[in-house]
Amino acid sequence: MSLDGTYDDGNIFAKILRGEAPAARVFEDDHVLAFMDVFPQSRGHTLVIPKHSVARNLLDEDPGVLANVILGVQRVTRAVRAALNPDGIVVTQFNGAPAGQTVYHLHFHIIPRWEGVALGRHGAGGMADPGELKVLAAEIAAKIS
Ligand code: 5GP
Repeated sequence: MSLDGTYDDGNIFAKILRGEAPAARVFEDDHVLAFMDVFPQSRGHTLVIPKHSVARNLLDEDPGVLANVILGVQRVTRAVRAALNPDGIVVTQFNGAPAGQTVYHLHFHIIPRWEGVALGRHGAGGMADPGELKVLAAEIAAKIS
């Protein structure tokens, strides 16, 4: 998929938003939903998506919506840090298939990193245990402030 195109509301994140697909939910407010990535690149890999948006990527997004989304990203990133005590945290976002994007609803990755622990490959890791994701989601949720 290129940078240009039409939003498809059959994408997996739209289904999660509508409650049609399961997810280990961490946090939501009026603007964003955060949940665990089911193919995590590290322990605690969390995704933040806008709730009311038909933006496929960063370039599509309305600036007013984006402002609230990035505030949500910061809030959840702080909670990931407080819950999991990583040595560093990658916050990233991909636009278009050549850049690595696979799901076409705007989203931000929050990927905790620990010294000496290799990063899993994007889009190539195994599926996490749903029970473990639920526990992690609860740990992070408990640190939202
Ligand atoms: P992208 O490749 O578009 O930047 O990121 C999409 C992310 O969504 C990937 O990290 C992938 O592991 C994750 N993902 C794909 N399908 C699902 C799913 O059904 N549930 C959850 N929670 N994450 C998913």
